Amino acid sequence: MVEKVYVTYNDVHKLCQEAAPQMLATLQPQLMIAIGGGGYVPARILRSFLKQPGSPNIPIQAIGLSLYEELPVTDADTTAGVVDQIGTKVMRTQWLDFTSLGGMENLVGKRILIVDEVDDTRTTLEYAVKELQKDVQEVSRKLGRESEKTEFSIFVLHNKDKPKKGVLPADAIDETRYIAARTVPDIWICYPWEAMDIDEHDKLAAEQKNKTAGA
Ligand code: 5GP
Repeated sequence: MVEKVYVTYNDVHKLCQEAAPQMLATLQPQLMIAIGGGGYVPARILRSFLKQPGSPNIPIQAIGLSLYEELPVTDADTTAGVVDQIGTKVMRTQWLDFTSLGGMENLVGKRILIVDEVDDTRTTLEYAVKELQKDVQEVSRKLGRESEKTEFSIFVLHNKDKPKKGVLPADAIDETRYIAARTVPDIWICYPWEAMDIDEHDKLAAEQKNKTAGA
């Protein structure tokens, strides 16, 4: 059976707090794109720690991606925007909406931090980076702003140390542009926002911490 590890809201808060100084020192993001649903809460917490005095809060945009394993890809899927990725399909359930911020051109030339909760097989992150890159390139070309470099980086709470199916484009994401607050074995992480009984969840998390401390 896969080991389950319980992570509390406080754990998530502290992981974001701990990672923020490195981000401010190196990546200096100007915009966050949270992958839903697991990226939403970490992105919101990070925003507080990335806030610089005298500067406005960093905007957060949301995209929704769902992963469907082992489903055959049909022609209808391809037309509907589903892509086949090594026997896995990623489906866009929500994409960027910049109508209130002046359109997609708002991404061009920006330092963009993509936020998700966990990097498991990496399929989702590969899809997100490649699709965002494609969108930005298209808008840059249309606007004649190809000379403006758009920089992507990634933050996840947990990276599972395992062979990855997805590959991040090397021209966009090198190791300096990828931050994982924790690298963990191939366990199953229970996040607090999924808990049906948060008191029970926190109790299990506390028991696990006690056990580790006593070990
Ligand atoms: P990927 O395999 O594309 O890296 O991750 C796909 C999605 O699977 C993640 O965004 C997350 O929603 C879910 N996932 C993968 N591993 C875990 C885990 O350990 N715990 C939870 N709660 N979700 C996970």
